[in-house]
Amino acid sequence: MEKTIEESKQGESLVLENKAQNSKKLFIESYGCAMNFSDSEVVASILSENNYNTTTILEEADLVLINTCSIRDKAEQTIRKRLEKYNAVKRDLNPKMKVGVLGCMAERLKTQFLEEEKIVDLVVGPDAYKDLPNLLQEVESGNDAINVILSKDETYGDISPVRLNTNGISAFVSITRGCDNMCTFCVVPFTRGRERSREPESIMAEIQKLWNTGYKEITLLGQNVDSYLWYGGGLKKDFGNASEFAQATAVDFAQLLENVAVTFPKMRIRFSTSNPQDMHEPVLHIIARYHNICKHIHLPVQSGSDRILKAMNRLHTREEYFNLINRIRAIIPNCTITQDMIAGFPTETEQDHQDTMSLMSHVKYSFGYMYSYSERPGTMAGRKLDDDVPEPTKARRLQEIVDLQREHSAFRTQEFLGQTVEVLIEKESKRSADEWAGKNSQSIMVVFPKENYKAGEFVNVTITDCTSGTLKGVAVGYSEMN
Ligand code: SF4
Repeated sequence: MEKTIEESKQGESLVLENKAQNSKKLFIESYGCAMNFSDSEVVASILSENNYNTTTILEEADLVLINTCSIRDKAEQTIRKRLEKYNAVKRDLNPKMKVGVLGCMAERLKTQFLEEEKIVDLVVGPDAYKDLPNLLQEVESGNDAINVILSKDETYGDISPVRLNTNGISAFVSITRGCDNMCTFCVVPFTRGRERSREPESIMAEIQKLWNTGYKEITLLGQNVDSYLWYGGGLKKDFGNASEFAQATAVDFAQLLENVAVTFPKMRIRFSTSNPQDMHEPVLHIIARYHNICKHIHLPVQSGSDRILKAMNRLHTREEYFNLINRIRAIIPNCTITQDMIAGFPTETEQDHQDTMSLMSHVKYSFGYMYSYSERPGTMAGRKLDDDVPEPTKARRLQEIVDLQREHSAFRTQEFLGQTVEVLIEKESKRSADEWAGKNSQSIMVVFPKENYKAGEFVNVTITDCTSGTLKGVAVGYSEMN
């Protein structure tokens, strides 16, 4: 869960794969983590079989769906603001429009949503999207509709997602749902339920389809990808009771990653998110062995203090985290490591904060997602701990963390000066129409003159300059990945 594309990124649906016979229009927006964006593609697919094509024009939509995030209070406030906007459009321009709320906020608030937000006709939790056609019938007959039942086995493995917001080059492929970790600050185990892994065949079939349609990069997604485990379905935690045959033929994350790398040697493979206690050496060796697996690990830690890690129920110590970092550096020397950090968790002292700063200085992350603590109702921390760090202290500590990260990011990008890196061209640079932008294997954005190269091509680029977030260079030819 931890890495979020979040509040900063809003989804607008592109009209892709629309069907001529469909007569209704769906406007779908996504907020929060990559999983939500991936889920919206599943929802668009389910509704494309039920007479809905996607539109980017809110005012013409028959149905507006907003896929929501509950990770922080700020994220929820953003959703409330969007509902106000929908309300105005419905009142002034499009009175027939129906509005549904999907995702984590739907799961957290349930019927409360229908009571608090009169604009909302439909509330659907993350495991209930296949019920949307039935729920919409209910809405058509003039009733509100809700399904927030969490599932033990739903993975949407049988749904072929309709790609939204796509550049036709990179796509998300979800491999697990839910989380069993129960970090005390996190609402995800309550909104997305228990951890389930998706059948490997359906993952491979989805990647094959993406490859056949020209995609060059996939990101395998899950709240906790390293604990992926397929032994025939069901909850991961029941694995111990599975038959000997199921155990012997089980597929774990290292095997899945290797299967994907070998089957699609010209496809770039990313994955997110990893949890320190679940990331083991076999995965590191697979990452090192295959050129097409990107050398980037997003490894949230949240705090550098053992006392706070324990209060967060993070299930690893500072020392264990350092040991893992050391193994990553030894096995994959060119790997970037990125973080998630929370400033001002309940009871956090100045010494705990300094422990976080010293952990960061030890690792020198390439990038990070950093937030001040936001109490989430219903979580263990929300119920048991006072949100006792004053807001100005949280803000000051967060700023110190952000400033330190900026220094480390600059240090890390400078390491690339003079190196030649492989870049997958994704889009035109925001700064200049004469330049391409795309990421290298280490997930750092690289900008370089277009020359005759095209979007979707892999190009070797020699790095000549950098900022703390971007590398600049000159293309020196195509890479072997083309
Ligand atoms: S409970 Fe922990 S591991 Fe699971 S999604 Fe939340 S932060 Fe991530």
